[in-house]
This record gives sequence, C-alpha cells and structure tokens, in this order.
Amino acid sequence: MRGIFVKSVKVIYKIGKGPSSSHTMGPQKAANILKYRYPEAELFRVILYGSLAKTGLGHGTDRVLRESFAPIPSEIEFVSEAEFELPHANTMDIVAYREGKELGRSRVMSVGGGDIVLEGERLEEGSDIYEETSFSEILAFCKKRKIRLCEYAELHEEDIYEYLSEVWSVMKASVREGLEKSGILPGGLGVERKAAKIYEASLAQTDATAENRLVCAYAFAVSEQNADNGTIVTAPTCGSCGVLPAVLKYMQDKKGYSDKDILRALATAGVVGNVVKRNASLSGAECGCQAEIGTACSMAAAALSELAGLDLDRLEYAAEIAMEHHIGLTCDPVCGLVQIPCIERNAVAAIRAINAADLAGVLGDTNKVSFDTIVKTMYETGIDLSSRYKETSEGGLAKIYGTENQ
Ligand code: SF4
Repeated sequence: MRGIFVKSVKVIYKIGKGPSSSHTMGPQKAANILKYRYPEAELFRVILYGSLAKTGLGHGTDRVLRESFAPIPSEIEFVSEAEFELPHANTMDIVAYREGKELGRSRVMSVGGGDIVLEGERLEEGSDIYEETSFSEILAFCKKRKIRLCEYAELHEEDIYEYLSEVWSVMKASVREGLEKSGILPGGLGVERKAAKIYEASLAQTDATAENRLVCAYAFAVSEQNADNGTIVTAPTCGSCGVLPAVLKYMQDKKGYSDKDILRALATAGVVGNVVKRNASLSGAECGCQAEIGTACSMAAAALSELAGLDLDRLEYAAEIAMEHHIGLTCDPVCGLVQIPCIERNAVAAIRAINAADLAGVLGDTNKVSFDTIVKTMYETGIDLSSRYKETSEGGLAKIYGTENQ
C-alpha cells in the first residue's frame, strides 16, 4: 500500500467530522465514490470486516455510512471473523443493487488518516510530489540547500500556506468550541467533557502548573470535539487530533508567535507525519496507538522545534524522542468509542512533545537513534502486536474495564 514517492503534506491534515479518520472519514469517502459510480443504485450493502466490524459501532461507522448513502437506503453488516485473509485490518465490501440485482461491488481498505484504497484500482489522493522517502534523505536535501523542513515543503508545494491557513483556523476553532462546551459525550460511557474544568484549574497557578493544565485543557477541548462528532483536523488522525493544536495554541499565546510562524511549524510537522505515513503506518488498526498518538507527538515535537529555531539535527532528535517513548502503545478503546483512553492520551502526548523538544534542545546532537530507525521500529512492533491491541477493543483496557463495569 505504500508508494514510492510521497504525497502532499495536505493529506496529513484533513478537515472533517470526528470521531475516527479510519472508521468514519475513510468509509464516508468510500460511500461517496460508490454512490457517484452507481447513480442508478436503489440499495447499498456494506460488509465491514476486521477492526471496522469490531469497533465500527462505537466509532459510528454505520451511522456515517447511512448518512453518506442517503437518501438511498443501505444495509450494514458486521463480520468480525472473515472467511478470507484481509488485505488490511480495516476492510469493507460495498455492493450496489438495483431491482434486486447486483450492479457492482468494490473492496475498500481504510488505511488510516482518512485515506482509502480500492482493491485493484489506483485512487488518486493527490499527486506524488516528494521524491525523498526517508527522513535522512529529506535531511540531506535540506542541509545541502541550507533550508528548513518547512521551506522544503514550500519548495514542492507553492500553495501550502493557503491550505495550512485554513487548517490553523479550524484547529483554533476546535480548541475554542471545545472549551465552551460541557456535558456528557455521546456513546453511553458517561464520559464528561472536562476541557473547561482543566482550563479553570490553570488560572492563578504558578507558571509550570498553568502551562501543564493549559496545554491539557486545549488537547481535551479538541479531542472532546472529536468524540462529539465535531469538526476537527486530522493530525495525523482523528483520534490523535488534539496534540498538535494544543501545543501550537499554547505556544502562540505564550510567546506571541505570528500565524505565519505557526503555519511554518504546521508544514514542518506535516513533513514528519508524511515520513511515518510513507514508511510505516498512521493506522491504529494496523500498528496500534503508537502509529496515531506516537506520530502526533513526533509531529508536535518537530513543530515546537521549528518554533524554537532548533537546528535540523535537534529537530530530528525531538521527533525521535517523541516517537520512541510511545513504542508498543496499544489501541484498546473502551466500548470502541474514541474517548477512553483516547482523550487523556492526547493531553499526555502534548506535554510529552514539549518535553521532547526541550530535551533535544538541551542534549543537542547526542542522539544515537535516527528518526528513520524509530519509525521502522514502530512499524515492526505494530505488526508484531496482537490484533487484540489494534482497534478491536478485544484486549487491554477495553476488555478489563468492560468486564469490571458490566
Ligand atoms: S487508543 Fe489511540 S489509536 Fe486507538 S482509537 Fe484511541 S487514539 Fe485512536
């Protein structure tokens, strides 16, 4: 599924409704394609397999599919144990019918971050524009030309800042709206919105305590918006959408960075996200939460390094630290909802990103592990993880909490 070249950093930042890039944004895109392809269809049948079948109900996959096919009716089936080898942990078959006869069908893989692949077809998700596929290649390119990572993105994508400007507006709106809301999140778990409470707890505190609470409040705000089907930006996924906006909003308010500075940080983070997407995975169903939150933390650490003006070696170190300490992180969402542990996890990763950038600044170029090495490690670890810990809600917290709270 991984290509030779690398696509636009825009594909890392998708603006859309939560709660899941792979379970709602991807299926929504697939439904729209099939609906367009078969305008005469009277019924669509969707068979969800793998992780889509196991956590699709909690993530709202069936709801999104029905809404996307409407007004044409659709039937959704959940097949947890497929009788064939799945090409991807998030696989679905979509069949179009008219007068009881099959018009056509497609097997679709929702590969993470809202991207989909149709079996046997080449679906354009933006063109391949970056020839460098690893971080070390990008670093060599930048060092030779004495440019920053954001300038590397700018060189290949002239209109990048126009798009990132919209991304930043939506990110800020998701922080603001999340802070203004209270109440219980949907899904039946009884999870309360807590962003405003944490924000209030940050007031009149010492600097260090206030920083910690403010960053967490922002991460909660965006993640709670995501859990409530609000509009967010994947960074790089819906489940991990709170990390990057939290640190950028905090740093802009604290240090007075201009929007242009923030857009350059977003471009930098996008390049880092793209490296993970190209060489490993952004999918919790494929590699566990390390692929989502770990990548978000690396992106945030790189963005903070750009804002702080760290050199490229230190920036790489920061992104590497951020990923390294998420290795092995499982995806075990309780009841298949993107709430426990997802919301708190965004806040913890945002604080960790600040820590990683700070450590890299202090430790300089003493790192032994390259970013490419840690990305490869994350991927191999993810492949080795039991499927119980890859967005199936069959193990870990989902299982234990579920048993204790029946
Ligand atoms: S545990 Fe992580 S990967 Fe799994 S749904 Fe939550 S945020 Fe996404």
